[in-house]
Amino acid sequence: MNRYDVLVIGAGGAGLRAAIAASGAGVRVGVVCKSLLGKAHTVMAEGGVAAALANVDERDGWRVHFADTMRGGQYLNDWRMAELHAKEAPDRVNELEAWGALFDRTQDGRILQRNFGGHAYPRLAHVGDRTGLEMIRTLQDHGIHQGIDFHMEVTVLRLLTAGGRMAGALAYDRERGRFLVFTAGAVVLATGGIGRAYEITSNSWEYTGDGHALAYEAGAELVDMEFLQFHPTGMVWPPSVRGILVTEGVRGEGGILKNSEGRRFMFDDIPPLYREQTAATPEEGWRYTQGDRAARRPPELLTRDHVARCIVREVREGRGSPHGGVFLDIAWIGEKRSDAAEHIRRKLPSMYHQFKELADLDITEQPMEVGPTTHYAMGGVRVDAESQMSTLPGLFAAGEVAAGLHGANRLGGNSLSDLLVFGKRAGDHAAAFARANPAATIDSAQVEAGEREALAPFERQSDEGPFRIQADLQKMMQAKVGIVRNESDMHAALDALRSIAARAGTVGVTGHREYNPGWHTALDLRNLLVVSEAVTRAGLAREESRGAHFREDRPDKDPALDRTRIVIRKAEGGMELRRETLPPLPDELRRIIEEAG
Ligand SMILES: Cc1cc2nc3c(=O)[nH]c(=O)nc-3n(C[C@H](O)[C@H](O)[C@H](O)COP(=O)(O)OP(=O)(O)OC[C@H]3O[C@@H](n4cnc5c(N)ncnc54)[C@H](O)[C@@H]3O)c2cc1C
Repeated sequence: MNRYDVLVIGAGGAGLRAAIAASGAGVRVGVVCKSLLGKAHTVMAEGGVAAALANVDERDGWRVHFADTMRGGQYLNDWRMAELHAKEAPDRVNELEAWGALFDRTQDGRILQRNFGGHAYPRLAHVGDRTGLEMIRTLQDHGIHQGIDFHMEVTVLRLLTAGGRMAGALAYDRERGRFLVFTAGAVVLATGGIGRAYEITSNSWEYTGDGHALAYEAGAELVDMEFLQFHPTGMVWPPSVRGILVTEGVRGEGGILKNSEGRRFMFDDIPPLYREQTAATPEEGWRYTQGDRAARRPPELLTRDHVARCIVREVREGRGSPHGGVFLDIAWIGEKRSDAAEHIRRKLPSMYHQFKELADLDITEQPMEVGPTTHYAMGGVRVDAESQMSTLPGLFAAGEVAAGLHGANRLGGNSLSDLLVFGKRAGDHAAAFARANPAATIDSAQVEAGEREALAPFERQSDEGPFRIQADLQKMMQAKVGIVRNESDMHAALDALRSIAARAGTVGVTGHREYNPGWHTALDLRNLLVVSEAVTRAGLAREESRGAHFREDRPDKDPALDRTRIVIRKAEGGMELRRETLPPLPDELRRIIEEAG
């Protein structure tokens, strides 16, 4: 039994920032994470953190960042979250610097910012293409000195409730297989994404949607689950590395997309919402990436949902690359700058290394082959904008597991700033909640039921193991609820999920409880099934195409759904969905959007 005031589940950027805030408020804080400290998803972030510091272009400011985020999210964002995020991100980034983060610098020594898709001005503070590493290092160094307890390689299985509010969590220690019970007045979920529900993904093994499922099972609401981001550029070859991310920073530095005919196909289809802001010629696009303030951005830097769909179109229509992607070319900048190879290696060191090591390809000389990869969940736990508290009292959520900021599509760089802004808010408010509501008594029946359920796979004999079930689920979701969706595929997906759930319900594992990956995977299946069902049901309920959710049977937006979000909660008979209208934008924010054009 471990007693805390605030328990943080997850040690990525959101969890660490929440833990720092809560411990700074003087309460006892414990953090649990599935793997080792420093290995969370956040460490993989490459391109940068978006904040309107206006170091590179003084025309930037929170208003422009707010308008960009709302436009990128197709106005389905929680406007208050988008406002807080745009206003507070610069302070959070400067604070990181004060804590020791070493960002790339401008000539006059300020934090350098780079271009990224959907951002009007260079806005992403970065450290080459290893920004997440610096962020995690800084937060860990800072957090470790604050007296926070860390429990590594511990997986939370179930949230414990008492009297309609949070009481704690049941977990198991992955190494020894023993159960642990945590009591806490408040719990912050910071468990990241759901990418492992898909076959092709940039996400690591940890992202099985645990936090989404834990919250749902405990009675909290989920929103926007249909909006799943497929990043346009993942590696497609060789097969063993398929899905690994190729940062948008490549395009920010001047990289261009071409089809097998050598045409820059992104110029073929520019959405009306972005026509005014997009370069008319390749030359103008190049000037933009080199900092010409009079130029407009190249179409490669349109939002991710659009770029991903254009790539799928090229491949489907037979103009793809040999391994089913398209070409991303940064080597071409050799035509423009004499120091191109050195510049690429300096600005994109991980990409250079990644392709050299994994694909035996030198990106300073040859184009890369890339295609869409499942990347980011815009949907997640419904939270209050100010406090990040979910609809379950005492349960907070921040980072990728929480929903609202990004609406129908996230802009690159807006996740790292989301983690900082709302991680801090979640930690502050969780600490205040825990002070006002001391930990409740744990209901031992909930603990016993959770333990029984977790150990059940050891009692069962089955012909197939959990890995095959997980692989079948991933393949099915990729094929039926992927980047291009339709009603009959999604109905077929629901049928398939029922039969996969039946198999998961009878799966057995062998061996003992000490570091048993088969057992761990059997336990992950429940979470993967919850998030897969939520994505599919929400996808069926949203009878239109918008942002990251594209339905070929309903390819247009339905104006009736302009301000509608889909809310999911657990009911007696299973998953219950309802539509809800977002609150109207205040006049001041509406004006900002109108002025941005
Ligand atoms: C390759 C890559 C590059 C990216 N680049 C960028 C970028 O340049 N800019 C940007 O803004 N965004 C980027 N993103 C997105 C961004 O990195 C993530 O959205 C973000 O890091 C998520 O942070 P988080 O704190 O919410 O969760 P994570 O960093 O994902 O951490 C989740 C934590 O929860 C723990 N956890 C999960 N389940 C459990 C459980 N059941 N019990 C206990 N612990 C649990 C994990 O162990 C982990 O510690 C990138 C993503 C990827 C994959």
